[in-house]
Amino acid sequence: MNGETNSLSADGLRETTGERPFGAAEALTEAARCLYCYDAPCVMGCPAGVDVPEFIRSLRTGAWRAAARLLIKANPLGESCGCVCPTVVLCEGECVLPRIDGQAPVAIHRLQRFILRWARENQVEVVSSAPPSGKSVALIGAGPAGLACAFELRRFGHHAVVYEASEHLGGLNRSAIAPHKMASELPRLEAEWLLAGGVEVVKGVRIGRDLSFAQLEAKHDAVFIGVGQGGDLIPDLPGVSAVPVLGAIELIEGLKGTCPSAIAEQARRVRSVAVVGGGNTAVDAARALRAAGVPEVTIVYRRDETLMPAFEHEWQEARREGVRFRFLSAPEKILAVEGRVTGLGCVTTRLGAPDETGRRAPNPIPGSEHELPCEAVVFAVGRVGVRALLPDLPADIVVKGGRVVADPSTGATARPGWWAGGDSTSGGREVVTAAVAGLKAAQAIHRALSARDAAPGVVQGAGRGGTERG
Ligand SMILES: Cc1cc2nc3c(=O)[nH]c(=O)nc-3n(C[C@H](O)[C@H](O)[C@H](O)COP(=O)(O)OP(=O)(O)OC[C@H]3O[C@@H](n4cnc5c(N)ncnc54)[C@H](O)[C@@H]3O)c2cc1C
Ligand code: SF4
Repeated sequence: MNGETNSLSADGLRETTGERPFGAAEALTEAARCLYCYDAPCVMGCPAGVDVPEFIRSLRTGAWRAAARLLIKANPLGESCGCVCPTVVLCEGECVLPRIDGQAPVAIHRLQRFILRWARENQVEVVSSAPPSGKSVALIGAGPAGLACAFELRRFGHHAVVYEASEHLGGLNRSAIAPHKMASELPRLEAEWLLAGGVEVVKGVRIGRDLSFAQLEAKHDAVFIGVGQGGDLIPDLPGVSAVPVLGAIELIEGLKGTCPSAIAEQARRVRSVAVVGGGNTAVDAARALRAAGVPEVTIVYRRDETLMPAFEHEWQEARREGVRFRFLSAPEKILAVEGRVTGLGCVTTRLGAPDETGRRAPNPIPGSEHELPCEAVVFAVGRVGVRALLPDLPADIVVKGGRVVADPSTGATARPGWWAGGDSTSGGREVVTAAVAGLKAAQAIHRALSARDAAPGVVQGAGRGGTERG
């Protein structure tokens, strides 16, 4: 990462990510490093299957609109992904340059970001839409999955209506991406550009509370569920009502200012914080706290470092930034004096046989209880799941382990006319995987609606068991 910049672009987007965006001369120089490989491995490494050599060739030869069109069609959230994708383990991790002569991989994410920023700032019309089909589709949630799905449905000529519980577009991509990765204005600007001229957005409406599922079905020809996994799960440990004890998403949203939180504000002002969890969210929260000036931040994880679900390059970076790690340690209680956190009571664990997750179970060692002094505790141990977000979902839509069960290639659920995708079906992945799920679902919805026109009364959209009815 290069040094932080603070420049304002034409549309007022303040650049606060750690990495400076490319200017045109730098982008062209970087593009010239690409070898335009045959059967390019970087394409295999991209969850959206972006034709990387083709878009870089278009960039280099001045066909910027063609480059933007290629990118947007593969991943409408491509500009955000240019900031937040873990490219080290995706496209750039597959680039041949390091293997040929030890060079750095082509900075694919920065080139992608350059082109899409150019297209958005110049309001370039990158794709055209089919004439209106007369069909209407409801999308529940304006996160990456819902936005990508709505964008694609509009391209097919369908009327897409996005219902969003909050007052904002972008979902977690706006509110919870760590501040060192992306400024919170970008997802809003990107969403407004993508949805301009065709998609209807209804903000501040929680489906299942403000509008029933029956009302939704009556108004629309198909429904897409893109509600994600919701907020943090806080374990019910003794002492959990002490302050500040909070979830990692609330902390990051508070630090970014996307959802102001008094408790997050308190957590940033203490000298030591324990962050419980071993995933990317725990690492993001710990890094955000260090960046906010907290001197002592310790990640407490009940397994060892070889079993951390977080990307290794991310937690190694956290370590370089001064985050401490306490492995093989499980929290048992929050310690507090007069309601204020003074520490985390833990027990040492020993790894046993694999549990239901397939990873070795962290078994507590009796008598090994110990204390980690700290002034705040942040939990990054899970999310509330779909049931909490859509409690009265029709019974034939199967929800298992907090996720909607859907066909992975189409997003079709077991209820005819209902599709789902993104974190709501995956349990929590990346922005790019949510966007791709939204695109695939839109394509499946389009096929189903077109088939219904061809044979009215036969095709209902989705088939029981989560497959499309043809
Ligand atoms: C702390 C954190 C850091 C992350 N960092 C990265 C990263 O660096 N890179 C990366 O690629 N990914 C990252 N992710 C993952 C990424 O943000 C998600 O995978 C992605 O946002 C999922 O998109 P989605 O549309 O499925 O759900 P969400 O983004 O969760 O959006 C769901 C939307 O649905 C709305 N909603 C919920 N219930 C209802 C309802 N009943 N009615 C109407 N609307 C509703 C919500 O308000 C929300 O706007 C991170 C996640 C977290 C938690
Ligand atoms: S692998 Fe690297 S050099 Fe080859 S096409 Fe992809 S980005 Fe270019």
